[in-house]
Amino acid sequence: MIKHFTCVICPMGCEIDAEEEKGKIISLKGNKCARGKEFVVQELEEPLRVLTTTVRIEGAEFNMLPVRTDKPIPKRLIPVIMEDIAKIEINAPVKMYKVIVKNIAGTKVNIIATRSM
Ligand code: SF4
Repeated sequence: MIKHFTCVICPMGCEIDAEEEKGKIISLKGNKCARGKEFVVQELEEPLRVLTTTVRIEGAEFNMLPVRTDKPIPKRLIPVIMEDIAKIEINAPVKMYKVIVKNIAGTKVNIIATRSM
């Protein structure tokens, strides 16, 4: 079976066609480097993404603080994590890279601020 992927490892965004059988890659087309193969292998096993979003903040110039995970998380956990993040409200001031939530949803991944406010 041929599966299509858009590699998100770098801004090139290669469109990759992977011929796969029972989770094993038989051939790859479209990747411009070896990291594309690593990406496809990971996508077949457990897709991972860095989650970027916002949390409510009080006492700052804007009322939403941009945040992200400090490591990629399993894509399937994003809806659960977004529910947890929606309940958060913090107070200014916040420095960039401050940990906003430790070990979100038991993933050992932290939510960190991506700007100071
Ligand atoms: S295959 Fe390589 S060059 Fe293409 S998007 Fe992925 S990392 Fe970038």
